Parts: sequence; C-alpha cells; structure tokens
Amino acid sequence: MSSIAAVVFDLDDTLYAERDYAYSGFAAVAEAFADRLGDPRDAAARMRRLFDSEHRPRVFNALLTELGLIEEFKLVTAMIEVYQAHRPTIRLYDDAEELLKKLRPEYRLGLLTDGRSSKQGLKIVALGLRDRFDAILITTELGPGFAKPSLRPFEFISTCLQVVGSRSVYVADNPAKDFVAPNALGWMTVQIRRADGVYSDQKPVPGGEPYQVIETLDHLLDLLSKLRPR
Ligand SMILES: [Mg+2]
Repeated sequence: MSSIAAVVFDLDDTLYAERDYAYSGFAAVAEAFADRLGDPRDAAARMRRLFDSEHRPRVFNALLTELGLIEEFKLVTAMIEVYQAHRPTIRLYDDAEELLKKLRPEYRLGLLTDGRSSKQGLKIVALGLRDRFDAILITTELGPGFAKPSLRPFEFISTCLQVVGSRSVYVADNPAKDFVAPNALGWMTVQIRRADGVYSDQKPVPGGEPYQVIETLDHLLDLLSKLRPR
C-alpha cells in the first residue's frame, strides 16, 4: 500500500480535452447567432480555425472581423454568455476513464479546478463526475482571490478529504499555475503533458516545477505505488 492516500485532479486538459469544450461551445454559438453569422457549420469551422491560430484569446472578435461584421462587436458579450452557459458535448480522455476506475477503491479522490462555477459545473455534469470524487472544489466557490496558485483551495480540499498534504498528489497539466501551491504545501505534484493540450507548452514558474512529468495517465497508478512523502 502506497503512503499516498489522496489523489486530486485538475479538470481542463487533465481529465478531458479543453479543445473539445471550445469546439462544443463554438457549435452552440454558431447555432444561437445563425441569423447574423450565417450557416452554423461554416461559422463553427471558422471559430475552430481561429482557436488554433494567434486569435485564440479573442475568437469571437476575430470571427466578426472575418465576416465583415465589425459593427456587430456588441454581440461579443452575448456570444460569450452562450458559450459559457451551453451544455457541452465532451468526454473523458480514455486514460482518465480507466484510471478513475482503478483508483477509486484505494485512494481518496478530489477534483480542484479554477473557472466560473456555473461553467465548470456544466462540464462536471457532462462528464458524469459528480459521483466519482470524494470532494469537488471549483476555486471561485471560495470567493474571489482564491484561484490557483492560492494555497487556500488546496488546504480546503485536504480538509474535505481528511488527508494531509504530505500524503496527497496533485495531477494537472499547466506548469505556469498548477503546481506552485501544492509544492509549497508539501504535496507531490505530477504534470500530465498531453500532445493536444492547450497549455502543454507553458513553462514552469519559479516554485512551480512538477515533481514528475508523465505523458499518459496510464502510468500514474504505477507511479503512485512508488511515491513516498518528500
Ligand atoms: Mg488544466
């Protein structure tokens, strides 16, 4: 039996592909605004292409520009609302699905994610995750100012799981923000570096280097059995 007792996961790009969420949202926006944007399949395809370009941070503005609808920029707020409120069509990565089944009997499982509560909640429902974790925390539910790298959400979920930090692991994808706090609290940290990850090329910030890097969650169970508190 490993001395690790709790495994806490990030959500986006760790358990499912964030790109799939974006694409799902673009389809919803294209349908909702078809009267302005034209054929929904064409509009959604344009947004997917813009997402994979330097326009990713402002896909809707870039789309309206591309379609010659600059005078419609006031639509962007409504487009964002539809995007964030849509019921996403997303699924767990195959390795995540398998891993969660295998971990469940042996470890306390947590989910700790940043992001707007309603938006993350819709993802959690779509992925069927409510009953698969012992504790789920969306950091905005603690109030403003507690997003990663705040220590507070990690301390909070430790309390919920009733496992000390030194016997906990955080598994996440983004070294620019995910590992600073759990490292500081003495957790083990594991980066899952996926080829299709939106943040897979981010550089670690000081103190944010993961303890281990893996390319697939298939290796995590084996790794957990070898980890010892630092
Ligand atoms: Mg992530």
